[in-house]
Amino acid sequence: MAVQTVPFLDLANTVAELRPELDVAYQRVMASGWFIDGAEVQAFESEFAAYCHAKHCAGVANGLDALHLILRAYGIGPDDEVIVPSHTFIATWLAVSSAGATPVPVEVDPRTFCLGPATMRESGLQAAVSPRTKALIAVDLYGRKAPIRQLTAFCKENSIKLIVDSAQAHGARAVDGTDRGLFGDAAAYSFYPGKNLGCYGDGGAVVSDDKHLIQRVKQLRNYGAFEKYHHEVQGVNSRLDELQAAFLRVRLRHLDAWNRRRQALASQYLAALQGQSEILSPPGDSASCDVWHLFVVRSKKRAKLQQYLTDAGITTQIHYPVPCHKSGAYAGQFAGVRLPAAEMLADEVLSLPMSPHHSADQIAYVANALRTFAQQG
Ligand SMILES: *Cc1c(COP(=O)(O)O)cnc(C)c1O
Repeated sequence: MAVQTVPFLDLANTVAELRPELDVAYQRVMASGWFIDGAEVQAFESEFAAYCHAKHCAGVANGLDALHLILRAYGIGPDDEVIVPSHTFIATWLAVSSAGATPVPVEVDPRTFCLGPATMRESGLQAAVSPRTKALIAVDLYGRKAPIRQLTAFCKENSIKLIVDSAQAHGARAVDGTDRGLFGDAAAYSFYPGKNLGCYGDGGAVVSDDKHLIQRVKQLRNYGAFEKYHHEVQGVNSRLDELQAAFLRVRLRHLDAWNRRRQALASQYLAALQGQSEILSPPGDSASCDVWHLFVVRSKKRAKLQQYLTDAGITTQIHYPVPCHKSGAYAGQFAGVRLPAAEMLADEVLSLPMSPHHSADQIAYVANALRTFAQQG
């Protein structure tokens, strides 16, 4: 096969495909002369709540703030502990720290990359609960829904909140195929441009059935005020703006179709990579539920594999090369702590090109390069 260039992601494609609709949204907001806290944000909040099968939604400035404001709205702060997965994007941990609470890591299932039934037994989810534990944050990592049903039962038994970090899983259903309405007590979303539902700047949202929680988040995001200049608590400035909300309303209408395209490409990768021992595929049991924010393989020879793909014109990324507890931000606090699953994943994971705008030909080219690499041993 001739060398092709396969980019990891090209966001210009998302604009090109939706250009006429995005232009209409842009014109509408510009003509309105209203840019913060208006009709577009309100409309998006109700459309996104309905999409998530949730009763309420609050738009915020980004995914980190969505997590942080959920914790603050629940009154979680200094002296409290929050259980987090050992393997995740660092925002999950930073949200806990910035609320003043302490992240308590629990290992993930290296096969699914999420907290799971196996980790609940083997890696001591129960052992991580102390009298100070107030919540558990489950992460739907790489587009795969964490086992929310089991985790809901676990959190109920232990009288702690279940918060779901869904920043990578807009539209994902449970692995048993049931609907999207599995978000624990509250879920946080990010609309960073590269996410499955992305905007063209920064954005985020909280969804929940808990009206009181959403009201608290709306107060906190607006300097702690419901009524202008009446600041009841020490809030922050964390707003989703009108323009991004208008763009998100367009993107939301295409989300399911775009997730289906990701699923088709993932099935193509899974079929092509079957039976390889050199390169471990992600689990295929959820191929039609998982929304494949990333397609992540594992290899003991990752550096060699990544170089081989680079030479073939294929761009890959590593999500994430440094485990949270070993990053500069946490190395002091977690000195001497070993989290073997997280450390192994940081050494082995490799994200392949994946988006609704990659073609079947491009995926076939990448899969072929992977097979050739595996055969060469
Ligand atoms: C992207 C992401 C976030 C943070 O979202 P931002 O909008 O970048 O603040 C949080 N958690 C996970 C798992 C993410 O992938």
